Amino acid sequence: MKIDILSLFPEMFTGVLSASMMHQAADRGIVDFAVTNFRDYTENKHNRVDDYPYGGGAGMVLTPQPIFDAVDAVTESAEQQPRVILLTPQGRPYQQADAEALSKEDHLIFICGHYEGYDERIRDHLITDEISIGDYVLTGGELGAMVVIDSVVRLLPGVLGNETSAVSDSFSNGLLEHPQYTRPANFRGFEVPEVLRSGNHAKIDEWRYRQSIKRTYERRPELLNKLSLDEQAKDWLEALKSND
Ligand code: SAM
Repeated sequence: MKIDILSLFPEMFTGVLSASMMHQAADRGIVDFAVTNFRDYTENKHNRVDDYPYGGGAGMVLTPQPIFDAVDAVTESAEQQPRVILLTPQGRPYQQADAEALSKEDHLIFICGHYEGYDERIRDHLITDEISIGDYVLTGGELGAMVVIDSVVRLLPGVLGNETSAVSDSFSNGLLEHPQYTRPANFRGFEVPEVLRSGNHAKIDEWRYRQSIKRTYERRPELLNKLSLDEQAKDWLEALKSND
């Protein structure tokens, strides 16, 4: 996968892309990151990339020219039209299903905004997606791009050591993940549940599934409304509700 990031602050990506899974994915040739400062593309003689909003008002607006030209430059040799993703609090709230869909693409471009916002023609004529990472406002799109990139790259085949670990992650099957324990079996008198030490894998799977249902019901009940649960899970859920 090729990932282009267009940002006014490329140095913000140095730490994130050079550590942990992102670094390993790039090192193994699974992903190719390129960070471009779109200020390098401005035709403004004072090197500006922003201007006052038409109609007045507070803040500065990113002008279309440097961003259009930077996207043209990074797509020049692209065989297929890449997804061009605008980070914005006005975008669709980002979810695991979006990460899974984006992980199937060959080329992603992320545009990180700053200041008051973007000239609307960027939205209307350049991008394919608008993503928000939550209902709050950040100073710039860089942190949002990092969140999305991390969640996508860890899904690429060969990035995670154990291919199954992304499958059991929270949200992958619509539920929150079950509780996890490691050694020692007894820590300060707090015991690991007996079933996990039983060696009975059918029982362990059932316990984990039931705990996932319970945890999701207790913390994110709205997620359960989107799922079609099997009869066993429905019974567990009814039992949880009757205990409330
Ligand atoms: N005035 C803009 C608005 O109300 O939509 C917010 C501008 S914000 C200060 C500057 C930039 O930070 C945005 O253009 C966007 O790139 C990024 N940003 C801020 N909050 C974000 C969020 N929740 N998700 C994704 N990007 C965000």
